[in-house]
Amino acid sequence: MRFAIQNDRRIEATPGANGKCPGCSADLIARCGTKKVWHWAHKGQRHCDHWWENETEWHRDWKNNFPSEWQEIAARDETGELHIADIKTPKGIVVEFQHSYIKPDEARKRTEFHNPMFWVVDGRRRKTDHKQFQSAIADGVKHPTTDGLIQQLWVYDSRLLKEWVPVGVIVAFDFGGDSVWILRRIKGDWVYGFDYPISRLVEHISKHTQIPDVLFSKPIPRRVLRRYRGRRARF
Ligand SMILES: [Zn+2]
Repeated sequence: MRFAIQNDRRIEATPGANGKCPGCSADLIARCGTKKVWHWAHKGQRHCDHWWENETEWHRDWKNNFPSEWQEIAARDETGELHIADIKTPKGIVVEFQHSYIKPDEARKRTEFHNPMFWVVDGRRRKTDHKQFQSAIADGVKHPTTDGLIQQLWVYDSRLLKEWVPVGVIVAFDFGGDSVWILRRIKGDWVYGFDYPISRLVEHISKHTQIPDVLFSKPIPRRVLRRYRGRRARF
């Protein structure tokens, strides 16, 4: 974790520092090595939030797009289960940054816990995902609009899509660079989304304004559907 509590203040890990966990109040030790980002760890025990993922620079860079008071916010559900949200805005919107693989069922469970929420998924963890996603875009349908290009992709053309469609909320795939690919709508085996600048996504989340939507004014053309009928998933 980036923050621990010391004398009612949130402090960052520095060599030799002491603090308590904002979730469970256990003593934390500052881990300040050279291999991982400096962080706080629970003393000789597992993390109190079993969903917690070891942080990378990627996590920190994303979190730092938001004020530090919004980072790592502990929440409990009605059963007392504790989870620490990567970002929680003052209006209660949660953003989770996911680097490692989690099962779609697990992702759905977490979505139910945190909703309303968005996911930002690291699209560079597996080597093949970006290439596969690009071919899904190439094989998909393009809908130019006055606001930009909407891309319609077949879910089974991308492992990432197949894994993340079940969460049913907005997912931003980060393949590196200044923009993300936003999965905005799902219709049957199709998803609709677009490239979107990270700065604008951050602005929407911070100001609680709506991320542009995709409108279904036209049905999917028959010739397009025919191309995919009977085709099997690749994996
Ligand atoms: Zn804890």
